[in-house]
Amino acid sequence: MYTSRMKFMNQYKVVFLDWDGTLCASRFWGQWATGEMAGAYQVIQNEFFAHHGDFIVRWMRGAESAETACSLLSGITGVSSEELLEGLAESCREMQFISIAIPSQIKQLRDKGVKVVLATDNMDTLSRWTLPALMLDGLVDEVLNSYALQALKRDISPLGESLFFAEYLKMHQILPGESLLIDDSGKNSIVESFGIDFEQVTKEKTATAILDSLLESDTIPL
Ligand SMILES: [Mg+2]
Repeated sequence: MYTSRMKFMNQYKVVFLDWDGTLCASRFWGQWATGEMAGAYQVIQNEFFAHHGDFIVRWMRGAESAETACSLLSGITGVSSEELLEGLAESCREMQFISIAIPSQIKQLRDKGVKVVLATDNMDTLSRWTLPALMLDGLVDEVLNSYALQALKRDISPLGESLFFAEYLKMHQILPGESLLIDDSGKNSIVESFGIDFEQVTKEKTATAILDSLLESDTIPL
């Protein structure tokens, strides 16, 4: 058991779970990593994901789409937009949980009355292909996607409110301190400034380990 600043599970009304790097390690166009499309895959990783951060952030804030991304990438890779889009859709439909234990851990949390919400800086790809293929809508209570919210998890309003989490918490009458974000991105620890607890996923401290620790914690008397 690792030391944690987390409260006992029964002090949380909602657990927010990040997707990429937390629940899932699958890559866009991952099926192209080997084989005849490997060259294009490398260009996508080395050029697009490494050097087009502004485009990717605009995409995650809902101002671009899979189509505009594939059109940009067609110019970089020489692969047609249509083939890129089909490859992207396929990779998104085939995404996998980082551990097969995750769905049952989510179910156990929900069975104990804690809401589980997918909270992800993501693209239109999630709602178009990944959610239906993995039937994620039935697994979690709600999906918060930056693409629909037009704000990232770390985005703050001029009044200092979270542009990503505040509305959900208000709507469900949950105080920030009754919520926890489990996320691999250190940048998102900024949610602590809104009062949301933060637990960072690392190689040593996986999402599965954190969820196990939470599930065990409710047996300890308060
Ligand atoms: Mg992540």
